Amino acid sequence: MPELPEVETVRRGLEPVMEGACFARVEVRRPDLRWPLPKDFAVRIEGREITGLGRRGKYLLADLSSGDVLMMHLGMSGSFRVAKNGEDKTSGEFHHARSTNSGHDHVVFHMSSGATITYNDPRRFGFMKLVPRSELERDPLMRALGPEPLGNAFDAALLAKACAGRKTSLKAALSDQKVVAGLGNIYVCEALHRGHLSPKRRASSIATKSGMPNERAEYLVEAIRAVLNDAIKQGGSSLRDHRQTSGELGYFQHHFRVYDREGSPCPTRGCNGTIKRIVQTGRSTFYCPVCQK
Ligand SMILES: [Zn+2]
Repeated sequence: MPELPEVETVRRGLEPVMEGACFARVEVRRPDLRWPLPKDFAVRIEGREITGLGRRGKYLLADLSSGDVLMMHLGMSGSFRVAKNGEDKTSGEFHHARSTNSGHDHVVFHMSSGATITYNDPRRFGFMKLVPRSELERDPLMRALGPEPLGNAFDAALLAKACAGRKTSLKAALSDQKVVAGLGNIYVCEALHRGHLSPKRRASSIATKSGMPNERAEYLVEAIRAVLNDAIKQGGSSLRDHRQTSGELGYFQHHFRVYDREGSPCPTRGCNGTIKRIVQTGRSTFYCPVCQK
């Protein structure tokens, strides 16, 4: 599932072809993705200009000149492909193979600039939704989101407060979008490794009894920001490096330190541990039992 860095990479890849352009024609090839597409979807967006393309957690938010926001989520397997002047533009190498089966091209945006943006999603867990900008804050999906981890408001105090009193593991807490928005299995594992904290540790152990942050909360916030910034940087360079080759916007090959590296030596300097895989709340967790305490 795409996490914050992948979605941000997609946003940066789409921004140049979307911002300032109009939807000239919209092809909707099926009535539903995860949920039914909005009624009169094409009619409501055709002829409208995209005045800005933002992101909140794992959601892409396109502001339209109509006053609506087009909310897009990639689900499990969604991707965007951009074609301009007969050439497919891209965004790098992907951690998971993306579908190239055009049978899964569900929505096609023909832009006023001549670019074509195709949404492909074999499993159809993604969705598109139109919400008036004035109601966005009240939208249940937006209200379910905690702080943006790269935003100014996110700090150790906020994270400790969200984790205080929680009996779940730190892994489970960080995967909860209400605690912090945009993290998933991969970047939670990576952040915990970078912060030298065990995924099995109780979430509440990063806070004092009164809910104040301790040193661990400070390390963890720094680790989360560093992991995400590194991944976005790598996604950005994959956008530049692979501009001329064919592919889709989305997943890029990230050099993970622990994720999917069971049995590999721990990359922490001076640590002689081996990366281990365990299952927590039904998902694989990768970590080093030696340097993550
Ligand atoms: Zn280690």
